[in-house]
Amino acid sequence: MTTILDATKDELEKEIRPNFRAKQIYQWIYQKYVNSFDEMLNLPKNLRAELSKKYTISPLSLIKEEQSGDGSKKYLFALSDNLTIETVLLPMKLEEFDEKGIRVHHARYTVCVSSQVGCKIGCAFCLTGKSGFVRNLSAGEIVAQVLFLKKMNNIDAERRVNVVYMGMGEPLDNLQNVTKAINIFADLDGLSISPKRQTISTSGLSPQIVKLGKMDMGVLLAISLHAIDDDTRVKLMPINKAYNIKSVIDALKTFPVNMRKRILFEYLIIKNVNDSMHSAKKLLKLLGGIKAKVNLIYFNPHAGSDFQRPDEKDVVAFADFLNSHGLLCTIRQSKGLDISAACGQLKQRKENELA
Ligand code: SF4
Repeated sequence: MTTILDATKDELEKEIRPNFRAKQIYQWIYQKYVNSFDEMLNLPKNLRAELSKKYTISPLSLIKEEQSGDGSKKYLFALSDNLTIETVLLPMKLEEFDEKGIRVHHARYTVCVSSQVGCKIGCAFCLTGKSGFVRNLSAGEIVAQVLFLKKMNNIDAERRVNVVYMGMGEPLDNLQNVTKAINIFADLDGLSISPKRQTISTSGLSPQIVKLGKMDMGVLLAISLHAIDDDTRVKLMPINKAYNIKSVIDALKTFPVNMRKRILFEYLIIKNVNDSMHSAKKLLKLLGGIKAKVNLIYFNPHAGSDFQRPDEKDVVAFADFLNSHGLLCTIRQSKGLDISAACGQLKQRKENELA
């Protein structure tokens, strides 16, 4: 049975008459968080029965949840074919109350979603890459991750979250389903997450970057760059053999960037691999002329990895150099370090436990 989360509202409108039923169904699922068609009280009984025969609502069942000391939570889900994926909830800002106990700020969250089971890209620092590719997630399986986390964490329907396609898989290798998910997320009768709040993080599939750019959806882009020369990058990311740094930069120059936004370059900083001042200088030169922001991410060591976490002083010096030369650079404090939040790690651990 397929999940109704795979359907855009337009698709439901074509299928269900009268077509305002599609809007009602969307609101029940995404705003009132119901778990069954029987709870959709303003739908006629026969329609509810029909929908129950044809669709499930959630394609996910929870296997495991881990909470980190910094508040991030990592979820391992089984899909309907028993394959597993992971999703991470990252609190970006905690709730704040005034002295009378009245809430002055709501918490803000980012959900890091998976887009594939496994991955073809095979990055050297990634456990997901090591276990190979199994299949693409459907749009509904992507959307379900955010819906599930909002429900589980009692995040009110009107509280919008940000979405990053940075979990398992290469989102641009599943472009059709990912762009469908972007549209389902954005529906105002649904989760209402505009494309401006959605970031696609890619290893740099140049032709797909150009294709996505032509769609002009308003979505944000993050590139896993990690190295400034092809020889180093190819060791970390074999995809660089097919699409080298120049081809990625050329593709990015065609990508429409909103006036107030920048393309984010993720730079996983690894001790003695790419943490030197020489690397910082080359990076500055490489990104000249692009509206860019660099995000330095401490490498998060995992069992069996050949790489090491860099020293803080080297990371700070790297960031200071870029910022002082006009290239915006932040250091991402590795949220979820103690729950192994680099992609693929929770899944791997669970599989080891089960073995
Ligand atoms: S880092 Fe991302 S693109 Fe690279 S192998 Fe892992 S999941 Fe795939």
